[in-house]
Parts: sequence; C-alpha cells; structure tokens
Amino acid sequence: MDKHLEDKFYEIACDEVIKKNMSKSAWGRAFSESKGDIQLASALYIEIRVGQLRRDHEEETQRRIEERIRREQIEERIRREQEARRQEEEKRQDPEAIVRQCPKDGSRYNKSFEVCLYCGTRLTRI
Ligand SMILES: [Zn+2]
Repeated sequence: MDKHLEDKFYEIACDEVIKKNMSKSAWGRAFSESKGDIQLASALYIEIRVGQLRRDHEEETQRRIEERIRREQIEERIRREQEARRQEEEKRQDPEAIVRQCPKDGSRYNKSFEVCLYCGTRLTRI
C-alpha cells in the first residue's frame, strides 16, 4: 500500500473523529469494543476506519482493472469484426481492382502486390 495513501486514510479517519462525522459501522464497532470508553473508542475507530478505507480503495482499484479489461475485450472484438468485414468486402471486389499504393512514389497496384515494383516499399491500402 502506498505510504501517502495510508497517511491520507489516517487523516480522513482523524478528521471524522474531530468533526464527529464518523462512519456508523466503524464507530459502532469501536464503541462496543471499548465498552463505551470514548478515548479508547476514538483510537479504535481510527484503526477500524483506516482498515475500511484501505479495503474500499482496494476494491475500487480491482473494479477499475476489471472494467478496463472488459472494455479492452469489447474493443478487440469490434476490431476483429471490422477487419473480418473489410476482408469480406475485399474478396467481393474485383481481384484486378487497384487497392494498394506505394506511400513513397504513389504507384498503384492490385491486391496481388505486397511491395512496390520500383522501390520495394511495402504498399498501403487505399
Ligand atoms: Zn515505390
């Protein structure tokens, strides 16, 4: 766990105690475990609350990672579908159709060519 983040969590928990704006679940546990001793409850609250904040943060981080993976999978599927459609479209086209071009000298070729006959540069799709 990031040290700054840990400090931040203690700061948040401490602030909540000072402003008497405690998380009910954490305060309830702290108060119960301290048998009503407010001083002890406040100290316990901070430990419990920092633990809560840490867990929430870890869950949020995990959730973001999973969401990013899911989004990347969707994007990858869309890319594959588009590529399949493009290839399908090219197959339907006339095999003699001019579909490639040399990026250096602009000479044009049909799909049977991969590189430029003049300069050997890899052809790009047009
Ligand atoms: Zn060329």
